[in-house]
Amino acid sequence: MNIIKKKIAVLGSTGSIGKRALEIIGANSKKFEIVLLSCNSNEKVFINQIKSFKPNHAVINSEKAFNNINKVSLEKTSLALGERALCDLVFDLEIDIVLMAIVGFAALKPTISAIKSKKNIALASKETLVVAGNYIMGLSKKMKTKIIPVDSEHSAIFQCLNGESLKSVDRLILTASGGPFRGKKESDLRLVDVGSALNHPNWKMGKKISIDSATLMNKGFEIIEAKWLFDLPKEKIKVLIHPESIIHSMVEFNDSSIIAQLGLPNMNVPIHYALNYPQREVSGFQRLDLTEIKQLNFEKADEKTFKHLIYAYEAIKREGSVGCVLNAANEIAVEAFLTKKIAFLDMQKIIEKSIESITFVAKPTIEDLFQIDIETRNFSSTLIQKNDY
Ligand code: MG
Repeated sequence: MNIIKKKIAVLGSTGSIGKRALEIIGANSKKFEIVLLSCNSNEKVFINQIKSFKPNHAVINSEKAFNNINKVSLEKTSLALGERALCDLVFDLEIDIVLMAIVGFAALKPTISAIKSKKNIALASKETLVVAGNYIMGLSKKMKTKIIPVDSEHSAIFQCLNGESLKSVDRLILTASGGPFRGKKESDLRLVDVGSALNHPNWKMGKKISIDSATLMNKGFEIIEAKWLFDLPKEKIKVLIHPESIIHSMVEFNDSSIIAQLGLPNMNVPIHYALNYPQREVSGFQRLDLTEIKQLNFEKADEKTFKHLIYAYEAIKREGSVGCVLNAANEIAVEAFLTKKIAFLDMQKIIEKSIESITFVAKPTIEDLFQIDIETRNFSSTLIQKNDY
């Protein structure tokens, strides 16, 4: 029997999620075929991916990287340059699932293109919902497309909610490892360096998300992501510190039952589940052995030290443009910390000042959000340049 393969686009294919997804797709080549790959600038890895998956189309964002690549060597794959070309291809091509793994705000336009052309999305890029959750979820409802979460916590909740009614949900419990600085207080965090902030205890991830995990901004973004994905108010979304990262998240129901999803702390299952949804398929992944883990621990989240959580709750309480400002100020602050321009705790100050200073818009259009994003980036960059935070 000839099985029809699912046509997959992997956007952001050279990042950590993109690479993992391609390994999973490669191991299941009878079920999936890659029709489009995109990356920002990592030409070396990208060329190898193109040569092994042979998609018809590939897009690279960096002009320098584009010029460096020998197009003839790519054989049947035609290579295009830049965001506009990527959005057009996402819109025009026949694709069953767009795996969106582009980091940061850059994921927004291609995501919109995918939804407008009625494509289902496996969403790994949480910033898309942080910035424009209201717009994106509204559009996907209108276009009748599915957004399947790939973030491990949201994949867990999505699995726990399978067959349940949202009306019977009392609480979503997002688990958090607490990152490399769990248990530390403000005075301990003043002088931490980039190396220790990047050194996550359980998860191997890209640089941006590793810093976001150290500040708990990542968890904050996940609070916002959960609000939009599952359409629940602030009061129903809680964070619980769970250092082992074995319970990926839980749902507490109105009869006091709690359903949890467990697994090893890697992205295999969330990616595999999203690609195969609505089916569950044999994976061959390493199994979780609870007798080896023995013990699971839990703590309250420390919002006093890790203020990024408070900013996230503010963003889902006020809605409007706050998530967009939070995301843009955070991207600038993380970049400045990574390049050693500012200290760890300065990231909080830059975000706080940006949220206070950028004019609040209650019902922003998508164009407003692009504008607010630029305005916030300029504002927070200036704060850093002038040492004024
Ligand atoms: Mg996560």
